[in-house]
Amino acid sequence: MRAGLRLRLVQPLYPSSASPVSSVRPTRAEVSLDRLRLNYHALRALVSATVWPVVKADAYGHGAKAVARSLERAGCEGLCVALFEEAVELRQAGVTVPLLVMGGNLDGAWDSLLELEITPVLTRADQVRCLAAAVRQRGGAPVVVHLKLDTGMARLGVPPAGLAELADTFRSERGSVCLAGVMTHFASADTDPGSVREQLACFARGREVLREHGLKPRVIHAANTAATLRHPEAHFDLVRPGVGVYGLGLGHPTARELQPVMRVRSAVVELRRVPSGGAVGYQGTFRASRPTTIATVPMGYADGLMRSLSNRAQALVRGRRVPIVGAISMDMCMLDVTDAPGVERTDEVVLLGEQRGPLGQDAIRAEELATHAGTIAWEVLTLISRRVPRFYFD
Ligand SMILES: *Cc1c(COP(=O)(O)O)cnc(C)c1O
Repeated sequence: MRAGLRLRLVQPLYPSSASPVSSVRPTRAEVSLDRLRLNYHALRALVSATVWPVVKADAYGHGAKAVARSLERAGCEGLCVALFEEAVELRQAGVTVPLLVMGGNLDGAWDSLLELEITPVLTRADQVRCLAAAVRQRGGAPVVVHLKLDTGMARLGVPPAGLAELADTFRSERGSVCLAGVMTHFASADTDPGSVREQLACFARGREVLREHGLKPRVIHAANTAATLRHPEAHFDLVRPGVGVYGLGLGHPTARELQPVMRVRSAVVELRRVPSGGAVGYQGTFRASRPTTIATVPMGYADGLMRSLSNRAQALVRGRRVPIVGAISMDMCMLDVTDAPGVERTDEVVLLGEQRGPLGQDAIRAEELATHAGTIAWEVLTLISRRVPRFYFD
């Protein structure tokens, strides 16, 4: 902080997450920084635009600090987050590349934003004026900002009807606020090419309005992972892949090289025989139809193994798929390992990712768990809770 300046800095606090050093329970998320870098380079090879990976929500559950530092060392020129607080966490971790805060919620943080050189995405005139006032009070060069246009999400961004007025404000504050980038976000880039065309047309009209107001942002960006993989016409100057960086290819052939970065593993902590007709777990939602071997695994819904996966999903043990049976409880789940001979206490259990063992080799993908739980892979990754320590492999 510069001496003599009285800045009201925002200091967000985070609850601490489980530490690998002190973990006794065998449940852990293993994050391959190697694969992260390979995915980043694969995405870079796919586009001529700059790639700014999205590391919001603790890097989709992978741990934002480690992921950001690793990408920065791999040559990445900028990163995107959703929250201002997330950008602060990265600056405090020593990340120096540009950080783009895409999710709004900047009121009261203007001084801290300038101090930490965090790049905001603005959507309203009141934000432009507050930020300009903070810049004037502080002195120094104009602050670089991006503008978000709403082209069809109806979520965040200035709608077409409000753009001309907002452009006027940018123009009158251009001594303090430099409009360096303009962005939008697609609603259905993975499912509906027609909607992408419509949003791109709306985006082009918006940029025309900016030009008419004498505003010429240098950096144009729109593409999430799906648009990066499927819509080259949406690459512009910069792409913002999130889930692709973590190895989810959304089933697209151009994504063949992407490999899942996270593996969630635990171990068998107890084994028992349940007779035919015996009940397993809360409410006995599973009843053995034969003499059954049940393995107990210390991972439950409080760790991010969704309860809706009960009696639906599978896990890997000794390299073979086995069903999760009974209701998943808060801290544990049970596997029917009757058909996986030789299972012993302390055997590794994989709930997400690959396993190789004496009975074979297989992988459980986040997309698969998402289908069983009636959700999307993004949610599966981000739900792996803070109670699960992250172990990094390089
Ligand atoms: C989350 C997000 C992304 C990344 O989306 P993926 O589908 O994970 O690639 C890109 N842009 C914005 C504005 C986002 O909120």
